[in-house]
Amino acid sequence: MSYSGKIFVIATPIGNLGDITLRALETLKNVDFILCEDTRTSGNLLRHYEISKELISLNAKNERGKIDWITGRIEKGESGALISDAGTPCISDPGIRLINSLIKNGIDIIGIPGANAALLALSINGLPTDSFLFEGFLPQKKGRQKKLKELAEEKRTLVLYESVHRIEKLLNEISEYMPDRTIVVNRELTKKFEESWRGTASEIIEQLPGKTIKGEFVVVISPIDWRE
Ligand code: SAM
Repeated sequence: MSYSGKIFVIATPIGNLGDITLRALETLKNVDFILCEDTRTSGNLLRHYEISKELISLNAKNERGKIDWITGRIEKGESGALISDAGTPCISDPGIRLINSLIKNGIDIIGIPGANAALLALSINGLPTDSFLFEGFLPQKKGRQKKLKELAEEKRTLVLYESVHRIEKLLNEISEYMPDRTIVVNRELTKKFEESWRGTASEIIEQLPGKTIKGEFVVVISPIDWRE
């Protein structure tokens, strides 16, 4: 396998360090540099697998400014990997601007698949998967209510990402805009304290412990007319 002049887009674990493929590890060992969101987070993963590499931070703020420099290095024959803090790069994570620009410059992009929180949730929640809409994070403020109204009309299964700061808010909003839907709240997938709740949003709000719930969440919402 020739690595020279290519970028490898590599999925990393979403919590459980064991969820990385042999091919991902082999490639991370062989590229010249690794682009990552947070050098400390990725440094921990790479140390765990005894991989020592040049780490370059690539995030929403600096991505645009680094594209030409990265392109130049690849055009000189170096090879790079793009990873994110968790899961599949470019899915609710930085990198798509870079990838788009590299494609325009004729550079080969090689994907190495692996963990993704949305697809994992869909695969274990038992809601229809023949067709679904991945919305990722809803807008935090402006446009959030409008988006929720639009989604309430959507006929496909919906997949949302939410952070610990807004999960209770999101459940309250779903109970208001989509009161009859079966939803599954997936918390801390693949991690030690993985758990899920199933029911309508208001049933789940009642089940939740009184204290604030912590962690990372994927919320899957059944299609409009779907019944268990
Ligand atoms: N690129 C990642 C992927 O492939 O899934 C997603 C990155 S996005 C910045 C982070 C969000 O993904 C979290 O706020 C949460 O909604 C979801 N997520 C990531 N890991 C998760 C996990 N282990 N359990 C539940 N949700 C997770």
